[in-house]
Amino acid sequence: MRILDIREKAVPVASAMRNAAFDFGEMTSSVVAVVTDRVVEGRPVVGFAFNSTGRYACGAPMRARFIPRLLAAAPDSLLDDEGVIDPERTLAVMLKREKPGGDAERSVPVGTIETALWDAAAKARGLPLHALLARRYGVGTPATRVQCYVGGGWYRPGEGVAELQEELRRHRGDGYRMVKIKVGGLPVAEDQRRIEGALAVLGDPSCLAVDANGAFDRERALAYAAMLAPYGLRWFEEPAPPHDYALYAEVAAAYGPALGTGENLYAPQDLRNIIRFGGLRPDRDVLQVDPPQAFGLATFAGMVAEAERDGFSRSQVFPHGGNQMSLAAVGGLGLGGCESYPGVFGAFAGYADDARVEDGWLKLPDRPGIGFEGQAALFAVMRDLVPELA
Ligand code: MG
Repeated sequence: MRILDIREKAVPVASAMRNAAFDFGEMTSSVVAVVTDRVVEGRPVVGFAFNSTGRYACGAPMRARFIPRLLAAAPDSLLDDEGVIDPERTLAVMLKREKPGGDAERSVPVGTIETALWDAAAKARGLPLHALLARRYGVGTPATRVQCYVGGGWYRPGEGVAELQEELRRHRGDGYRMVKIKVGGLPVAEDQRRIEGALAVLGDPSCLAVDANGAFDRERALAYAAMLAPYGLRWFEEPAPPHDYALYAEVAAAYGPALGTGENLYAPQDLRNIIRFGGLRPDRDVLQVDPPQAFGLATFAGMVAEAERDGFSRSQVFPHGGNQMSLAAVGGLGLGGCESYPGVFGAFAGYADDARVEDGWLKLPDRPGIGFEGQAALFAVMRDLVPELA
């Protein structure tokens, strides 16, 4: 199996939403295609990925460093014992001549290419990616379905508590049980009214999480911790800037229920540090690293294993992303669940067109690879990169 070409294009993510930290008005994503010489059932094996949600397209470093390194490597050096591309080996090649530290500058381009290589490696075997990941990094019996919650409750111009409640009723009607809503985009008292309004619809506080998107300073983080604690919500996400470990530790000391963080941590050292110095509690807190943004699935699997050694359970890992890449990780590694963003982030949101959530559970897909072929609008964007598939 040989890599013939790796292609990238930046695609706008049309979205008018805002969280406590920023709006998505200029957001883009890098779509990547890895073209191989392997043919399965008469069609060339092509691996696809995109750089998940919330980080801009990153084609320049891909084209300047990571793609040329892979294409220059001896093809056999990238293969496993069965002659199929081994993403762990490609990772070592992409990271050659990279200075330690500064990981966010490269973890997204490297992780997106690495994820596309997993798609190709699974397709070469005719396996769904979650099945290949389960074989490589899983524990116990592989999952057939995973828990799936909605990351919603965004701030939209002109919308208030009534519109939020209408949104939550829609999610419940679509089969979801748990929903996460934004906090921090309004004064504390107004956000508290949103939470009361959400609980009036959802009932059980363990079905509601809140997300501050790392926007709070010390004063606001502690004010929200005090306001939120009595509700006993499922989790309070990113109560502090992602690398402010001291503030995390202070919030954790003041806030009894679960905290969540990790979508803006891009290296194993970052996760290690927030666990060691951020006061995270292995018996309850939730870890949310986004695989394609953090050097890819092999690195992510290593981070999960390390958190497990620190006392966290796999059921406390809910990777960020709300897409089929994180779904494969959740299913393959036996994690807590995945996120979903119905109706936002355009073609980049969500799962296969025929996927259905029932009573909070999403069945794992059986298409080979990640299964982007089952998402018509997204796959049309991806296929544009590969005229030979037409
Ligand atoms: Mg978040």
